[in-house]
Amino acid sequence: MSCIFCKIVSGDIPSKKIYEDENILVIEDINPQALIHVLIITKEHIKSANHLTKENIDVIGKMFLAAKVVAKQMNIDESGYRLINNCGTDGGQSVNHLHIHLLGGEKLGENLR
Ligand code: 5GP
Ligand code: ZN
Repeated sequence: MSCIFCKIVSGDIPSKKIYEDENILVIEDINPQALIHVLIITKEHIKSANHLTKENIDVIGKMFLAAKVVAKQMNIDESGYRLINNCGTDGGQSVNHLHIHLLGGEKLGENLR
């Protein structure tokens, strides 16, 4: 198994855990791009948004709910935050295991690219 995020999920690579449930792990990004930058990761290895199937519909909803819980936990639910999924090469995906970036804690730029 060569996937970094699978190794983080299994505990083989250490991480700063923010939230965990049966399906989802939320960790601090190792190279933060904002004051708050965490990664919402599926425990199951799914390569990308482009590899989702109907069987994954449940876990997608759970990722967004985990984002909401973490935003509240980190006290940025009122100030706001940004959720980003990079998909594939042109989308800038560097780890091929499904995850959503949650960025906040400051006013973010308005560019989408
Ligand atoms: P992507 O570019 O695939 O959308 O996002 C991958 C993210 O994973 C990057 O923001 C990168 O900083 C983060 N990352 C890569 N390796 C590790 C690691 O070993 N630990 C943690 N916590 N984050 C990582
Ligand atoms: Zn994986």
